[in-house]
Amino acid sequence: MEKLSIILPIYNEAGNIGILYIRLKEIISNIPNICYEIIFVDDGSKDESWLLIKELGQYDSCVKGITFSRNFGQQAALTAAYEYASGDVIISMDADMQDPPETIFDMVDQWRKGFDIVYARRINREDSWLKTWTAWIYSRILEAVSDVKIPADVGDFRLLDRKVVNALLSCSERNLYWRGIVAWVGFKSTFVHFKRPLRHSGKTGYTWKKLIKIAVDGVTSFSLFPLKIAAFVGSFVILTGILMFLYVTYDSLFRNVFYPLFKWLVIIIYIFMGIQMLLLWLIGEYIGRIYEQQKGRPRYLIAHQINFDQQLNKNEEKCKKNISYKYKNIKLIKSKMSILYK
Ligand code: UDP
Ligand code: MG
Repeated sequence: MEKLSIILPIYNEAGNIGILYIRLKEIISNIPNICYEIIFVDDGSKDESWLLIKELGQYDSCVKGITFSRNFGQQAALTAAYEYASGDVIISMDADMQDPPETIFDMVDQWRKGFDIVYARRINREDSWLKTWTAWIYSRILEAVSDVKIPADVGDFRLLDRKVVNALLSCSERNLYWRGIVAWVGFKSTFVHFKRPLRHSGKTGYTWKKLIKIAVDGVTSFSLFPLKIAAFVGSFVILTGILMFLYVTYDSLFRNVFYPLFKWLVIIIYIFMGIQMLLLWLIGEYIGRIYEQQKGRPRYLIAHQINFDQQLNKNEEKCKKNISYKYKNIKLIKSKMSILYK
């Protein structure tokens, strides 16, 4: 039987844990042929969240819990959860009911159709207009500047196959930004859609400070674009500086306009500022390379392989002995691939 792990980062969600647990049980019990675990990772909550998790764990052995020594952030909670999850398929979601548990049906469906990653994409958002708009703009900027395509309007509500989680855990970088790294690892992915309601109870655990930190983490972990800003500014400054210089030279040579020394100096200093900018960009490019190296991401990740496991190696021995069998097969393959041999 396949095992489903539901992982939930928890920060001050005492008002949500009970209802979420009941809904999850209801839904999972309606998915055929699956056993499950629900992992709560308490990210240093200041309310009774951990007490509730402990209580649930006491009478339901499918409930597992971890609590952090302090608040480390949702991304760190997800890291712990992925490390501790033992399922063949792992679904991460917010614990405030903003990621509706019903969506799990569709997600598992897509997984059973053969997708390794199923993103849940929100089609609307009932947060404050400021949050909705900043999230909308940020999503697009990230999609545009990042080296891999990080899908827009997708949060941390996603399903991952075991092999994707293993691949993710082999990335050892520190500032793990899950949305980005999931896009980076590749694999076969698809989307399901959901309407994002308001949070059930309590208030968001994301202060603006935390939001800005995670936004910066996202851009800097998956894009060297910020380093290239100096190149654009530098080129612009040099170009306009040279134009100014030419204009002033022309004016003073052919139109006999007198320019005092300080005006010349201003233009020359301006041009040199541009040159400095360009040099900064150059240094930035080197730092970027060091940074890329230091992240130590694997050079490649394998989705499937054939004939490499031991069982099949034995078959290979058989194949060697039975040459005629091999030839017969080659004839068969040739006839099937006749297009290639024309
Ligand atoms: N969360 C967390 N650590 C934090 C902040 C949030 O584990 O420091 C959890 C929170 O309990 C919830 C999820 O991350 O399950 C999303 O947080 P929240 O709902 O506050 O974010 P929003 O929906 O406002 O973006
Ligand atoms: Mg929320």
